[in-house]
Amino acid sequence: MLRVLRTTRKDGPLFCIMPTCLFRALPNQGVRYSSMENAFQHRRTVGVEDFVLLDDYRSENAFVDNLKKRFQEDLIYTYIGSVLVSVNPYKELPIYDARHMERYRGQNFYELPPHVFAIADTAYRAVVQERRDECILISGESGSGKTEASKKILQFIAQASRHAGSVDDVKEKLLACNPLFEAFGNAKTTRNDNSSRFGKYMDIEVGVQGYPIGGHVLDYLLERTRVVFQTPGERNFHIFYQMLSGCDRKTLDNLKLTGDWRDYAYLNQGAKKIDTSNEDSLQRQWKKEFSDNLQSLDAINFTGKEREELFTTVAAILHLGNVRFVEGGDYAQLTNPEVVSTVAQLLGCARDDLIQALTHRGVHARQDKVLAKNNREQATTSRDSLAKAVYAKTFDWLVKRVNKALASTEKSKSAVIGLLDIYGFEVFERNSFEQFCINYCNEKLQQLFIELTLRSEQEEYVSEGISWEAVDYFDNQIICDMIETKPIGLIPLMDDECLRPGNATDMTYLEKMREKLPRHRHLLIRKDTNEFVVKHYAGDVVYSVLGFLEKNGELLHRDLKELVISSNNTILRAAFTAEEATSLKRSFSTATQFKHSLAQLMVILKSKDPFYIRCIRPNDTKSPRVLSETIVRHQVKYLGLLENLRVRRAGYAYRRPYDTFLKRYKSLCPATWPSYSVAFKEGVELILQQLNVPPESYALGKTKLFVRLPQTIFAIEDAFQQR
Ligand code: ATP
Ligand code: MG
Repeated sequence: MLRVLRTTRKDGPLFCIMPTCLFRALPNQGVRYSSMENAFQHRRTVGVEDFVLLDDYRSENAFVDNLKKRFQEDLIYTYIGSVLVSVNPYKELPIYDARHMERYRGQNFYELPPHVFAIADTAYRAVVQERRDECILISGESGSGKTEASKKILQFIAQASRHAGSVDDVKEKLLACNPLFEAFGNAKTTRNDNSSRFGKYMDIEVGVQGYPIGGHVLDYLLERTRVVFQTPGERNFHIFYQMLSGCDRKTLDNLKLTGDWRDYAYLNQGAKKIDTSNEDSLQRQWKKEFSDNLQSLDAINFTGKEREELFTTVAAILHLGNVRFVEGGDYAQLTNPEVVSTVAQLLGCARDDLIQALTHRGVHARQDKVLAKNNREQATTSRDSLAKAVYAKTFDWLVKRVNKALASTEKSKSAVIGLLDIYGFEVFERNSFEQFCINYCNEKLQQLFIELTLRSEQEEYVSEGISWEAVDYFDNQIICDMIETKPIGLIPLMDDECLRPGNATDMTYLEKMREKLPRHRHLLIRKDTNEFVVKHYAGDVVYSVLGFLEKNGELLHRDLKELVISSNNTILRAAFTAEEATSLKRSFSTATQFKHSLAQLMVILKSKDPFYIRCIRPNDTKSPRVLSETIVRHQVKYLGLLENLRVRRAGYAYRRPYDTFLKRYKSLCPATWPSYSVAFKEGVELILQQLNVPPESYALGKTKLFVRLPQTIFAIEDAFQQR
């Protein structure tokens, strides 16, 4: 008996003639649904699990609507092909426990609902089984869940790699470095109570046995200004508070600390708008975190001396912030020399040298060095520069020290999984040098995204012998060039101004931009203001040029450097090399250093197979269950998700290895059911012919079936379900 099935899909009717009697004989024995089937079943109730299945895939509304539907059901993950889109749930979901990890272990990517573990598992298996280097790039704006995602991946890998003595030690170290970096590199901002104020790339090395054998961390552009200044409602780096709450009385006394964060200028000025009603629970949290830090330091084998020096440095910064100057005639006068004594003692340098370095500056005239007196403002700037430099160098040292502990001792060739957790595109009411650097970084990552998504898509078609149809997309190379290319990119011009003797100011830099980059399509200098607009790929950002030169040329005054190098604190001595202090050559500016490290990062990432996690912040209020369409739409736009989907759909929305397809649908064709004697590819072709699938709607590659529209798959699945 034959049954004729007619579907009414958008791409036209699809008729299939099926021998129903055969299907009755086929029990549906707990077939595990792959993503397309899952998606098929759920798409009307909780949206689609993969955006490529959206009927209206060009529509931003449909995209946001799908995210929202799923979010309301606590389904925070959705794919665009192999890209994972994740929406921060702002509440604990029961989907990360050992049972879930086990469930995702060793499964094919599309076999289970979308999950960060599916990405981790696929990457990990490629590394273990194929010895390929992989990387997982996590992006999204502040508070979207990047750091949480990266921690979940690390936990999954730690859990997935089987138990073995020395391996556990490595895993413990890998897990221990996260809380440490968070203590020193994260802070409460208005967007996120635990905001990463640096970019992080971490390689997890996996040995031939399939266990993690080591790791390596690269850090990017720590937001050093936070050490001395926080906007209202924000805090300094966590470590300061953790230390004050967590240290025992004796340690506090040794460090001459009171134990109350309100006593320190570097901590109390941003606190005006901070809600302190939960102070008790915060104190408990800091105390607990401090004790976790101590455990992490132990796991990384810090010596007692290293630990002591680390905390001494942090304490010195707190005291330094309390050093005050008044205008004494035409130069700065110290009001609290006893505080300077404490700083000198903690930094391990001579008190008089410190006072001298803060209140004077050496002016080099040919071979001679003349001492000029600082006024109050200059002395305060010197003080803050010293604090920022000491903190930044301590952070650098910490990264180096952690890397030393993570360095693998195995000689066998390892493959790596790289994890990139880096700041997303930022647009604030007032945008400055930091946002400029962060957004430049995102331009570079977008370049990479375009290159790699298109490239990998293209490569698959080529390797499968399928013809490829190019997709139009905006290539942001032009913006990267405008920012970085010598001699007239925004960064080289900035460096020129920083180095130019005479009276270069932020405003002369702005003037240079106007002169050298007139009528650039992506740059606009606002008349009679200190603002310029960069038309980023993700949208226009208005930057205020004020502070650019100072932040870019933030090189510590030579006298201060010499002072720090003379310190008997090994962390500081190691951080400021003598060469750095005496070199007459200018070291690179902040922006140029950042440019170089980003270029290196691009090389690293390009050498690996990429996975993408695109994180989305659902609302401005950190609330669970609330998804603001306006806020989400904006992120969907600038993460380029619709473009991503378009690229994915332009070719073939779905691809299945022949054997997988045949296994599921063999019962739809008498020639392949109950058994078949033809090759997989031929079997697939027979099924498609049997179902009258129009030949133009699919392509047959070397190992896979490529289907242009998801509707075709739906129809096949309909047939399967109704058999
Ligand atoms: P930033 O760029 O500021 O560092 P981020 O993208 O790293 O932001 P996270 O720190 O990962 O953001 O997330 C912010 C907060 O959101 C977390 O502290 C946590 O409370 C919550 N959160 C994020 N992801 C999840 C998740 N998967 N489950 C539960 N809560 C989450
Ligand atoms: Mg983060």
